[in-house]
Amino acid sequence: MNSMAAVLHQMNLERPYSKSAPLKIQKVNLDAPGFNEVLVKIKAAGLCHSDLSVIDGNRPRPLPMVLGHEAAGIVIGLGKGVQKLAVGDHVVFAFLPSCGNCSYCHSGKAALCEPGAEANGKGTLIGGHQRIHNQGEYYHHHLGVSGFAEFSVVSSHSLIKIDKDIPFEIASLFGCAVMTGVGAVVNTAQLKFGESLLVVGLGGVGLSAILGAASAGASKIIAADINPKKRAIAKQFGAHYTIDSSEKGALEVLKDLTNGGVDVALEFAGAIPALDFAFHATKKGGTTVTAALPNPNAKLELSPVTLVGQEKSLKGSYLGSCVPSRDIPAYIELYKSGRLPVEKLISHRIKLEEINNGFERLAKGNALRQVILF
Ligand SMILES: [Zn+2]
Ligand SMILES: [Zn+2]
Repeated sequence: MNSMAAVLHQMNLERPYSKSAPLKIQKVNLDAPGFNEVLVKIKAAGLCHSDLSVIDGNRPRPLPMVLGHEAAGIVIGLGKGVQKLAVGDHVVFAFLPSCGNCSYCHSGKAALCEPGAEANGKGTLIGGHQRIHNQGEYYHHHLGVSGFAEFSVVSSHSLIKIDKDIPFEIASLFGCAVMTGVGAVVNTAQLKFGESLLVVGLGGVGLSAILGAASAGASKIIAADINPKKRAIAKQFGAHYTIDSSEKGALEVLKDLTNGGVDVALEFAGAIPALDFAFHATKKGGTTVTAALPNPNAKLELSPVTLVGQEKSLKGSYLGSCVPSRDIPAYIELYKSGRLPVEKLISHRIKLEEINNGFERLAKGNALRQVILF
């Protein structure tokens, strides 16, 4: 079948993206879903910084590729062998398929699923197939989702069934921003009731982490970013204090506010100075978590003696250390009861044709979550 899709043919084009238009809106062909695969009509898809990192070449991926990894839609077709989904079901996409069968999946670490990571690296579905093509050339799938399109064929391992009473634009956010941000707080850092917390980097994921921390009972939430507009927004999400982490003396201010440092510091900026700030802002015995994806060549300078002498932990967090099938429905319940007001994340609703303008806005730091509505 035919589908309109936003396809990346070349990375690292010049900005502004509104002019260079790195994503081409074009017709593609979709194969019918194969074994354990599902055809989904996409209803909403969010623009995330990880898409931007492919567009600007910081996270190289095989091309051509239909981008988009945060989406929600309706099941309209099933391949053979699909067990837990039916036509008409509403679904959220998880940007890492979990096979359910590798040693990591068996130990509850779906975020580290090996066949899932291998497929994502190659730009295929988890069975190794590509289902998108155009004039004989096969295109790659982005993280098993490829949500910037009217329709997508995906592995059933990439889908989480959700209730039908949640709007698609809200549901889509749970696939990346909310899962990554909230999961980093409660799964990776395991924030305890009454602990203090710092979030560095206030994009969609960082703001989700603030919502999660507020809901999980953080006593003091400090939000840091070099962009003053984002610091102002963080207060509306529940931050008690804001800090410009690039300013001289920022660390001392934070330590004064928190009696020597925070229990938990999370970094989502993808910049080494931001991670350095988060680590030094963490108090003795505390935990620093990074969930950002800087350029693979970036290095952090760290004195191991501070880890030992101060018993600090430094942890990485992918997918918010979530098990998507367990955590997405739970986080959606928290949204429904008003304890995770993720609707605040949506700053723009756009059309597929406006996607390049959207990524320029994101690159400039002038947007929170922009959601494409189909
Ligand atoms: Zn994302
Ligand atoms: Zn697995």
